[in-house]
Amino acid sequence: MHEMSLAEGVVKIVEETAASAGGGRVTAVWLDIGALSAVEPEALRFCFDAVARDTLAQGARLEIAVTAGAGWCLPCGRTVVLGALYDPCPWCGRHQVQPTAGTEMRVIEIEVE
Ligand SMILES: [Zn+2]
Repeated sequence: MHEMSLAEGVVKIVEETAASAGGGRVTAVWLDIGALSAVEPEALRFCFDAVARDTLAQGARLEIAVTAGAGWCLPCGRTVVLGALYDPCPWCGRHQVQPTAGTEMRVIEIEVE
């Protein structure tokens, strides 16, 4: 389950940010998860709660937003909407689409008490 290592990364960022903001308890974390990142929001939520235990992020509310995916279709020579990784191009039906957006997970904002 790669969500566990992702959750560890998130908690690390959150703790560093909270520490530089005065070391208060973290009450909420906003995450942006790309539709093509293969991150399962519910699995990440579960892992986050486990990893955040005994840290400044313990009990923090996780707000997850999912960003749509996009890719560059080589045959069409244009950017197309991608619902999932390895989906075919909606215009030509081919699989030569290079993902360009929605492949990452980012911490957008952190609320510190
Ligand atoms: Zn195409």
